[in-house]
Amino acid sequence: IIEVKNLTVSFGEKQVLNNINFKVQQGETLGIVGESGSGKSITSLAIMGLLSPLAKIHAGSEILFHQNGSTINLLELDTNEIRKIRGNDIAMIFQEPMTSLNPSLRCGEQVEESILLHQKLSKTEAKAKVISLFEKVKLPNPERVYKAYPHELSGGQKQRVMIAMAIACEPKLLIADEPTTALDVTVQKATLDLLKELQQEENMSMIFISHDLGVIANVCEEVLVMFRGDVVEQGNVTDIFNNPKENYTKGLIACRP
Ligand code: ATP
Ligand code: MG
Repeated sequence: IIEVKNLTVSFGEKQVLNNINFKVQQGETLGIVGESGSGKSITSLAIMGLLSPLAKIHAGSEILFHQNGSTINLLELDTNEIRKIRGNDIAMIFQEPMTSLNPSLRCGEQVEESILLHQKLSKTEAKAKVISLFEKVKLPNPERVYKAYPHELSGGQKQRVMIAMAIACEPKLLIADEPTTALDVTVQKATLDLLKELQQEENMSMIFISHDLGVIANVCEEVLVMFRGDVVEQGNVTDIFNNPKENYTKGLIACRP
């Protein structure tokens, strides 16, 4: 469904992605692992069309989105076109819910607004959709969450609101950038289980970013190991986890908590 080809990005003199190549098929989950600064978020932001204007995408880079027999290069779309793709086909969950949830708007209202922006529904229908999404992501007492401000919810609950917002458009591809790092371990596990369940239920493709290869092995089929803007190893996650070829990958596995 998505094919990244020769993706090269730099900020000023500094090249942060060096000729990245990978594919995600329909319904497949791809993990991206690598230490801080290796280029995981830049890769996902490039797919979302959300790179800072200071980022230079080098000529020859392509991000192909395949759907219903047609192919578009996301890097060639204008702002409005890519915004439409973001509202309909590709969604992202960010690491820190507080950067994506507006603190002065009730949770229900923000999810509703993002639905109304992209879908032709009445306000009543949109509210009903928000409640059913909150049920789907297993938020206890959806009516209460609807009325709550973000600061009135726990970290795990906020993350669930973010997930509800991301799947509201029934995306073909969901990108989750370290969705659980800010959460404690039990909540992490529950959030991962939920994401996995939703991915299978909706037959979404997913790109799941984490610095823990063990987490990726639980959620994904394929993995991309990145280091300083390069892909150092890629393939089936169980194979790589059990039999890493590159020293860098061996190190990542050895220093798991
Ligand atoms: P982390 O695990 O810490 O989230 P990451 O793998 O997601 O790390 P990126 O955020 O993709 O790392 O950053 C890759 C490189 O790009 C880093 O060296 C970072 O300093 C640089 N970078 C990211 N955003 C910018 C920016 N707006 N301006 C300049 N450099 C940037
Ligand atoms: Mg990151």
